[in-house]
Amino acid sequence: MLAEVARAGVEEVDEAVARAGDALPGWRAITPRDRAAMLHALADALTGQREDLALLEARNAGKAIADARGEMEMVADTFRYYAGAPERPLGDTIPVTGGQAFTVREPVGVVGLITPWNFPLTIVSWKLAPALAAGNTVVLKPAELTPLTALRFAEIARAAGLPDGVVNVVVGPGRTCGQHLVEHPGVAKIAFTGSTEVGRSIAAGAAASIKRVTLELGGKSANIVFADSDLEAAAAAAPLAVFGNAGQDCCARSRILVQDTVLERFLGLLEVHVKALRVGDPLDEATQMGPLISAAQRETVSSFLDGQAPVAFRGSAPDGAGFWFAPTVLAPVRPGDRVAREEVFGPIAAVIPFADEAEAIRLANDTIYGLSGSIWTRDGARALRVARAVETGVLSINANTSVRVNTPFGGFKQSGYGRELGPHALEAYTEVKTIFYSTET
Ligand code: NAD
Repeated sequence: MLAEVARAGVEEVDEAVARAGDALPGWRAITPRDRAAMLHALADALTGQREDLALLEARNAGKAIADARGEMEMVADTFRYYAGAPERPLGDTIPVTGGQAFTVREPVGVVGLITPWNFPLTIVSWKLAPALAAGNTVVLKPAELTPLTALRFAEIARAAGLPDGVVNVVVGPGRTCGQHLVEHPGVAKIAFTGSTEVGRSIAAGAAASIKRVTLELGGKSANIVFADSDLEAAAAAAPLAVFGNAGQDCCARSRILVQDTVLERFLGLLEVHVKALRVGDPLDEATQMGPLISAAQRETVSSFLDGQAPVAFRGSAPDGAGFWFAPTVLAPVRPGDRVAREEVFGPIAAVIPFADEAEAIRLANDTIYGLSGSIWTRDGARALRVARAVETGVLSINANTSVRVNTPFGGFKQSGYGRELGPHALEAYTEVKTIFYSTET
């Protein structure tokens, strides 16, 4: 057993919200310089403990240690980026009749953060850093399967000098603790990352008290490979774009759309790279893909091998203990097949052929989701045409990346609303106030 963690109930949520409420006036009143200094100190502490945190995260979520290290670097970078925010200008000066109007940004208040298990501390940092920088206090409810790095984070934050009550962590089930937080009158905003299904219930639960809500939900992103692309580069990059983190990635490019004239050649190249993936012990430095998070998740993922689409080839996976699932490529997949429509959240890629640019765009948009995606082509004009036409929050050309600390990230359609990271996240954790100052009285 890795750890035993206390299970909170609604009373603990009430207590955490009360503490966050008590801490709010003091945290709001801290000078911008002091708030910035505390966030810098926290970023430095996170950098100092990066190796320990990476090991804990690898164990927490069963993810490859090399990936966990990169994630912990981003966690510290996120706090460093938002540490600059309290001292940056925010607001407008607006010419009006009879005086001067200007806007200021006020913190929203006590913010409830509800996070998933796939990138446990990374997603916490995307919410916590801008929330704190903007002067809010928080109650964090991490996913019940992966609470360990969130709890360690709270210790680090306290040791780095954050005042008591500014960051509160409650570990408990979504249906009790999470829902209570959503409905709590003392909470002004919910920032949620998780499944579209739970996102829907959160939006409904928050409606009664008109809470602010941001939702980062599921995805079914397209990786569009045109015949004129650098096929070798596209095939080399495609496996980790869907099998990274064992496919448990909201940005997974799980639909690979390939122009039909190069389908056979692309599949041949892809097979070599999929079979070369190193799947194994998360704590082995060479591992690129670990096991799935749970037995239940493996069952769900397995249900997509339902015979609707043929298995083209599979990579390897260890036998024995662990929720292993070999990376699997299905081809050709029809747009109506279940694996082309639903988020798998596991290492299965669906290869779907297309004839021309118009069909590629139509297929890419033929989904309820709109989170991420890629276009591979050497034709710059086409790249821009398709990038503008695909309904998705982030998109890469000749690359498969989705997130950076200083660029906005979030979804179109049922992938959610609101943006994390970059300057946009600060807007999501503040209210705009307009002040008019008369020059006539
Ligand atoms: P989930 O929706 O089951 O759970 C997420 C969190 O919500 C957990 O903390 C859970 O305890 C809580 N929760 C569950 N029911 C709740 C309720 N009724 N009220 C309040 N809180 C509740 O998601 P998961 O299985 O942990 O994560 C996988 C999902 O997250 C996938 O769909 C994935 O695409 C999505 N995701 C999205 C992003 C993004 O940025 N868009 C990033 C990572 C994961």
